[in-house]
Amino acid sequence: MTTTDAAAVPGLAGQILAGYGDRVSVHDLYDEAGASVYHDLAAADTTEIRELLRSVRAVPGPVLELAAGSGRLTLPLLASGRQVTALELKESMVALLHERLAEAPAGIGGRCTVVQGDMSAFELGSTYAVVVLGTTSVSLLDAEGRAGLYAAVRAHLRPGGRFLLSTVDLTDADGDDLDLEAVGASGRRYRMIEHWRAGQEVRKVTILPPQRDMPEDGSVVVLTTSIRVLPPDDLARELASAGLRVVAHHPLPAASPRHTGVLLEAEAV
Ligand code: SAM
Repeated sequence: MTTTDAAAVPGLAGQILAGYGDRVSVHDLYDEAGASVYHDLAAADTTEIRELLRSVRAVPGPVLELAAGSGRLTLPLLASGRQVTALELKESMVALLHERLAEAPAGIGGRCTVVQGDMSAFELGSTYAVVVLGTTSVSLLDAEGRAGLYAAVRAHLRPGGRFLLSTVDLTDADGDDLDLEAVGASGRRYRMIEHWRAGQEVRKVTILPPQRDMPEDGSVVVLTTSIRVLPPDDLARELASAGLRVVAHHPLPAASPRHTGVLLEAEAV
């Protein structure tokens, strides 16, 4: 299990954690300690699924889903009747995805091929009508990783195929960290603090128990993830220079007061 130094957590979350001293252990949201929390939160979040399914429906044929995680988008894609190849980097998330496919109604799981791999460098030996990269996951890659992603996507798109990817624009409302309480599908509550200032390339999200649920003794498990800020217009320019032309912008429901989501639809040129 990987751990991070609590002192590296910035802003409000860092101040809170300082009060708990060496009782705090900080883990990546997608590693072993975080995967079940991510899954609990993701299962309760249906933003973007409707818009994504609408765009996928317009292009018949097999779907490649990148950064599939524990299957929040994979299961609805399968339920819509498509063949889906789901690619995911982390073993812990792949294990959760296999569990969910095994629990899915008969026939659905059988249409899914799960591949553990890196979306910035993959070669699957097949082509797809649609490549999906949801949940702003393009923001997890640096510039070099994104260049690899775009080349691999182009190589896997059928003629007339579509690359669907989501991103968010941020507004720096008042210069404070965004401090929200989220409820997972299990009913469990989480405090999510986002640290970002206008102009910063990365926003840092920290997930910790709400104040009232903080343990009085024993360890305090905290999860973090870093997400690059890729405004839609910048991303569209970057895609164009990689040979992927954006042909439509679909607005997404707002995930928070500070985020404006958009689903970009691109084709290879
Ligand atoms: N699409 C899923 C959903 O909607 O719940 C998961 C989205 S989650 C924000 C991002 C996922 O990307 C995580 O499961 C993480 O492990 C995975 N990931 C991170 N880097 C990756 C990479 N280079 N290649 C493939 N998957 C990656």
